[in-house]
Amino acid sequence: MAESERQPHPPAALEATGRRIGIIGAGFTGALLAVHLIRQCRTPTQVLLFDRTGRFGPGLAYRTDDRGHLLNVRAANMSAFPDQPDHFLRWLDPLDPGANAAGATGQAFATRSQYGRYLQDILETARREAPPFVHFEPVFADITDLEPEGPGHRLIAADGSGYRVDDVVLCLGNFPPRPPAIANTGFFDDPRHYLSNPWDNAAIEAIPPDRPVLILGSGLTMVDVVMTLTRMGHRTPLVVLSRHGLLPTVHRASAPWPDFIAGTELPATVSGLFLLVRAQVRQAARHGGDWRSVIDSLRPHLPALWRGLPLSERQRFLRRLRPYWDVHRHRTAPEIAGTIARLWEREMLRLVTGRLLDLERKDGATLATIRPRGADSDVTLTTDVVINATGLATDILSVPDALIRNLLARGLVRPDPLAIGLDVCDQCGLIDRAGQSVPNLYALGPLTRGAWWEITAVPELRNQAAQFARHLAGRY
Ligand SMILES: Cc1cc2nc3c(=O)[nH]c(=O)nc-3n(C[C@H](O)[C@H](O)[C@H](O)COP(=O)(O)OP(=O)(O)OC[C@H]3O[C@@H](n4cnc5c(N)ncnc54)[C@H](O)[C@@H]3O)c2cc1C
Repeated sequence: MAESERQPHPPAALEATGRRIGIIGAGFTGALLAVHLIRQCRTPTQVLLFDRTGRFGPGLAYRTDDRGHLLNVRAANMSAFPDQPDHFLRWLDPLDPGANAAGATGQAFATRSQYGRYLQDILETARREAPPFVHFEPVFADITDLEPEGPGHRLIAADGSGYRVDDVVLCLGNFPPRPPAIANTGFFDDPRHYLSNPWDNAAIEAIPPDRPVLILGSGLTMVDVVMTLTRMGHRTPLVVLSRHGLLPTVHRASAPWPDFIAGTELPATVSGLFLLVRAQVRQAARHGGDWRSVIDSLRPHLPALWRGLPLSERQRFLRRLRPYWDVHRHRTAPEIAGTIARLWEREMLRLVTGRLLDLERKDGATLATIRPRGADSDVTLTTDVVINATGLATDILSVPDALIRNLLARGLVRPDPLAIGLDVCDQCGLIDRAGQSVPNLYALGPLTRGAWWEITAVPELRNQAAQFARHLAGRY
């Protein structure tokens, strides 16, 4: 039967029977987990996929409609399925003008909105093709709490409704940036002059083009903001404030570098690893190679490298190397880099390196007090709108997320030893305050970065979702 002729099965049949799996969060991770479970469960199962936005598939990263927001991974490496590397390329519609280059070569970068549609499509196809004993239901709800109930759990939504489930998988994804540490926190209460969410395209589009804008942070989030403001015809130079002055690096086609980790003893210190990588980068340069290929060849080994480091070394990495690692590891598409380069050249973008100390409104302007890097006195910068683009918040103890806070307060979860996510065992089971595995409660995706570190992008997340689905589906 052709795909389009298949009829969805009636959902009510399973109301009273079968196991219920609740997936909280319908971004890439939650959506792919649902797809794998729908395909792999062999006994009556209900898969409930919750999202507070009412959109199922795109998540935070791929819900943007801005065509200037491109993927930061080549199309050829964005398949949602580890065992079908060309799945995304085959999906890309050759008639879509934005997809041509990406689809033809696989080396180009599709738009993030296309990728969001891809994920929605995969989910819809899985729903249509579900076997009659698997019922899939997307649920538009903000889950704010969870209490153990019998052998399972009861999920509690912001509107007070409750859902009994047997297994719960947290796929909450990424959290927006934390507000900067300034004295005058009252400044944050004025949404006309402070934008706390750099992914709120509507709020950025609403900034009048003649208003001075200060963007906090100089990474890929800053790039997104600049692309949107530029598309909207912003006329006033944009000022970017960066602590380290590091700007995103750019993808470049380069020959793969041989695996220099496999078969060697893994370094047990960050400096050992750093020296090893630097030596390889030098060698690559001597042979006409590129540092990007060296970093990329490390990628399959990153979980083992991370887990091989003692806690004190992981802490050192976060303190000293993280910003440098981030700019080399997360790169921007050349098209985007070209636009940004032109803006620097035309002085429509200006970089200030230093630390933000305070923000205040005075005489109709916003005054930003900044300590320039290496200076011993402050400067005042006059602007109007401040956009917080400092990147994803990873300090799990301070994210203002109701579900995380309630789970921590109940002692059902605990921070990982670095407090950059939640503590999980090897099978992604959550560990409670007392150090015990909580039955039937799991986390996937960026929440597990303490255990694996590099678990942010599609190439890693697709493996995690597929492996975990096999584990869960295999249990019943
Ligand atoms: C702006 C941006 C661009 C990116 N670009 C790329 C890229 O080009 N390539 C790449 O490989 N990676 C990219 N990434 C990395 C990204 O982390 C992953 O690709 C992936 O999208 C993460 O998916 P996720 O499902 O884990 O999280 P998310 O996409 O953050 O999805 C989590 C979902 O959970 C929902 N949710 C959270 N809490 C609750 C709750 N309590 N109740 C109900 N719903 C809830 C949210 O609404 C959201 O839809 C990007 C990340 C960002 C932020």
